[in-house]
Amino acid sequence: MATDIDPFDDVFVEESVRESPIVRELRKNLPEARFYCLSSEPCYRNSLSEDFSKKLYVIRFKGRFLRSCPATRFYHCCGYTILHFGEHCTVGCTYCILQAYLNQPYIKIFGNLEEMLSEVKGVLLQYPQVLFRVGTGEFTDSLLLDPWAGYSSHFVPLFATIPNAVLELKTKTAFVDRLKDLPHGGHTIVSWSLNAPSIMTQEEANAAPFELRLECARRCLEWGYFLSFHFDPIFFFPGWEKEYALVVRELFETIPPRKIVYISLGAFRFMPELKGRILEKNPTWKFASGEFVPCPDGKRRYFVDIRVGLYKFLLEAIRSYAPDICVYLCMESGSVWKRVFGYSPDEVGGLPRILDDAVRKTMKVGMNCLNSAASLFLRKPQPYSSI
Ligand code: SF4
Repeated sequence: MATDIDPFDDVFVEESVRESPIVRELRKNLPEARFYCLSSEPCYRNSLSEDFSKKLYVIRFKGRFLRSCPATRFYHCCGYTILHFGEHCTVGCTYCILQAYLNQPYIKIFGNLEEMLSEVKGVLLQYPQVLFRVGTGEFTDSLLLDPWAGYSSHFVPLFATIPNAVLELKTKTAFVDRLKDLPHGGHTIVSWSLNAPSIMTQEEANAAPFELRLECARRCLEWGYFLSFHFDPIFFFPGWEKEYALVVRELFETIPPRKIVYISLGAFRFMPELKGRILEKNPTWKFASGEFVPCPDGKRRYFVDIRVGLYKFLLEAIRSYAPDICVYLCMESGSVWKRVFGYSPDEVGGLPRILDDAVRKTMKVGMNCLNSAASLFLRKPQPYSSI
């Protein structure tokens, strides 16, 4: 499938993972690339002067691969578990939060695959009563490197063997070819971030065009995968209603709601450091000014009435095509939930419960699980780390 994202020219491999199946796959799929061996990961800091976009680092990750979602006590968290397999992304979204989170300027992926897979299996099977929703798209795009590194060929079959877990691959790419023949067992959700057409064309430089994202979603559907969509970050600008309404209409003209597990909504929010990083690259970025207010978690969000207006509009548009679909707000307060949905997650068992129920209802996975992974976050010591 066509892509605007070129493969890498230089691949730097840490000595201890040079025999990794990931490195073997990279050598096969990047025949033109130069491969170098490193004794350890170098220490470069973000710099606008050097271009790292065609360099890839494969290192041994020494921490825990499974992490709890970085919830705060101020906002309702979804109780997600992150499978950390790499960092950074070359899709190049202007608003990308990773610019503020990460200080290395290159993509790095973790070559100690066997340790990663064994940790995943060990932790998830240790808690058979807990339903885990696991995602790989927190610190990079889940499928960005898939044509070359092939992580999905390891992750998807593994999750098919774990009765109490589902995997979500979250992407803005069209790199789904590898998924076609994988034995997913109905345990994998392929998911796309969507936005207003002008945002997708102007602010997401190397992402697949909207039509292609939908076409890929349709193909995944044919291969038996479940789907989810994320309207995040939603922007407030003149004409937003028309643009978002068009995307919702085209989404439901292409994809039947019964295979969509959930749809999230999240208005644009940022840490103050992110705004600085964005303006360094693009001093006239038009979304930097607006009615933003400081929030208890240190981020800036649109003024609450604007957020509620965005959410209500999108919720109504979505529900006009799919009245029963699970829609949720990402990192929002109970009072915003109440104004949008008429209830706060706490009144119906919590957001993790809402999403677990959506998984059970749509995917029929975790039918006998009594607890959400969020319940483990409260235990000491935690079975996996929190960031
Ligand atoms: S696809 Fe996601 S991770 Fe990649 S640049 Fe865009 S927002 Fe960042």
